[in-house]
Amino acid sequence: MLDEVKQFLAREHGHYIGGRPVAGQGSERIEVRCPSTLTVVGSVAQAVDVDIEAAIASSHQAFRKDWASVSPADRERILLRFADLIEMHGEEIAQIETAQSGKLIALSRVIEVGWSARWLRYYAGWATKISGETITPSYPSMSGERYTSFTLREPLGVVFGVIPWNFPVMIPVWKFGAALATGNTVLIKSSEFSPLTMLRIAELGTEAGLPAGALNVINGTGKIGGKVTSDPRIAKVSFTGSVPTGRLIGEEAVKANLTRFTLELGGKNAAAFLPDTSIDKILDGVFEAGFLHSGQVCASAERFFVHRSQFDEVIEKLRSRMEGIKPSQPMDDAGMIGPVCNEPQFNKCLAAFELAKTEGDDIVTGGGAYRHDGLYIQPTIILPKSLDSSAYRQEIFGPVGTFVPFDDDDELLSMMNDTPFGLTASIWTNDLAKALRYVPRIEAGTVWVNMHTLVDPAVPFGGAKGSGVGREYGSSFIDSYTELKSVSIRL
Ligand code: NAD
Repeated sequence: MLDEVKQFLAREHGHYIGGRPVAGQGSERIEVRCPSTLTVVGSVAQAVDVDIEAAIASSHQAFRKDWASVSPADRERILLRFADLIEMHGEEIAQIETAQSGKLIALSRVIEVGWSARWLRYYAGWATKISGETITPSYPSMSGERYTSFTLREPLGVVFGVIPWNFPVMIPVWKFGAALATGNTVLIKSSEFSPLTMLRIAELGTEAGLPAGALNVINGTGKIGGKVTSDPRIAKVSFTGSVPTGRLIGEEAVKANLTRFTLELGGKNAAAFLPDTSIDKILDGVFEAGFLHSGQVCASAERFFVHRSQFDEVIEKLRSRMEGIKPSQPMDDAGMIGPVCNEPQFNKCLAAFELAKTEGDDIVTGGGAYRHDGLYIQPTIILPKSLDSSAYRQEIFGPVGTFVPFDDDDELLSMMNDTPFGLTASIWTNDLAKALRYVPRIEAGTVWVNMHTLVDPAVPFGGAKGSGVGREYGSSFIDSYTELKSVSIRL
C-alpha cells in the first residue's frame, strides 16, 4: 500500500466544506471496514444539524457568489485540470477505494479512476456548449405589435448528490461533473459504507481551482439525507441507489418545494441469448452481463434467458467455469472474484439463497459464502422453480444469475418485460435485423445488442418503469441540471 494511502486512511475524517476538510461537530463516528479482512481501515464523522447547515450554506453561497461568476471556458479548464489530477493520483485513489470496499484493484484502477477521468473530461467539454435558441413568435400582441423571443439555459442552484456504495468515485463524478459544467454547485452525500474516496476527490477539486464551496461533501447515514432534501436551498436532488430509498427521496423532494429530482435506481435486468449464438459466446456474455464486480453493478443482469435447445449445455458449462473461480485478495492484480462490499450486502445474498431453497428453486452451483475470512459470496446459478420465485423477481445485487429457458420470441419478450423495473436489457444474436425488431419491444432505458454493462459518457443512461426518473450522460444532463427560461421582447 502506498505511504500516502496509509496516511490518508489514518486521518480523523469528517466532511469537506468550503474548500477544506472539517472535523464536524458531532461525536458519533462511522467505521469503515475492509470486507476482505473485516478490519477497520478508517472512519468518518456522522454529520449533525450544524454540519448540515454549514454545508448547505456554503454550497448556496458559492452558487450565488463564486461559481456563478466563473465563465464557461474557465469551468471547462478547471474540470479538465480536475480530471488530470484524478489520473495523476490514480494509484492512490484506487488503493483507498480497494481498501474501503474490497473492489478488485484492477476495477478500481480502470473504472473508479479511468472512467471517472473520462466522464469529467466529457462534461468539461460541454461547459462551453450550453445554449438556448432564438424563436420568432407567430402571433402579434393584442394591439398588433410583433415581438421576438429567445431561451436561456440557467443553472438550478445547489444540487444534492446522494451516492450508493458500489462505485463511490465514478457515480459522484457523473453527478458533480454534469452539475458543475452547467454552473451549479454540488453537495455530495457518500454512502456510509464507502465515504473515504470522495473526501480525497474533493481535495483534488480544490487543487484544480474549484472555488470554496463549489463541491462540498457531507458524511452520514441515510437519516441526514431527508434533512438536506427538504431544505429550500436545495434546487435538485440527484440520487443513485435502491428503489425504496429513491421513492422516499422523490416524495420528500416533491413535498419540499417541487424540488427537481433524478432517480437512478435498481432493477432486475434481463440478458437473452437467441439460439444462433454460440455456446462460448453465451458463456462469455453471461460473465460480462452478470458478474462484473461480483454483480454489484446496477446495470448487471440477474435474469438470463437461454433457448431450450442450448439450455442444459450452457448451465453445465457455466457451472464448471464458476466452480473454477478462486476468491482473491482485493489487491491481487489478477484477482478473479473479490468480496462483496459490506456486511448487509453479504447477509442479503445469503438470505436470498435461503429463501430460494425454501421456495424450491434449484441452486446449481454456489448458494453460499466461500470458506474465507472476509465477505466472499460464491458465484451462483439458480434455476427458479417458477416465474414467481423471489430470486427471479427481486434484485439481489450479488454474483448471482437466475436462468430460464424459452421456446419462441413472444414468450421471451413477455418474460423479459414481466417486471416492474426497466433499467437495462441485452439481446445476443448474429441476426441484427431480428435484434432491431426486438429493441422497440423491450421495456428498458438501455438495450444492448451483443454486449452488456458497457457505458459511455455520450450515451444517455437511466431507468424506464420503476427503475428511475430522468437520464444521466449525453446531452440529457443539460436539461436535467438547468432551468429553461423564455425571454420575449416587444419590438
Ligand atoms: P441505498 O438506497 O441503500 O443507499 C443509497 C444512498 O442513499 C446512501 O448514501 C444512503 O445513505 C442514502 N440514503 C438512505 N436513505 C436516505 C434518505 N431518506 N434520504 C437521502 N439519502 C438516503 O442504496 P445502496 O445499497 O447504497 O446501493 C445499491 C442500490 O443502488 C442497488 O439497488 C443498485 O441497483 C442501485 N444503483 C443504481 C444505479 C443506477 O445508475 N441506476 C447505479 C448504482 C447503484
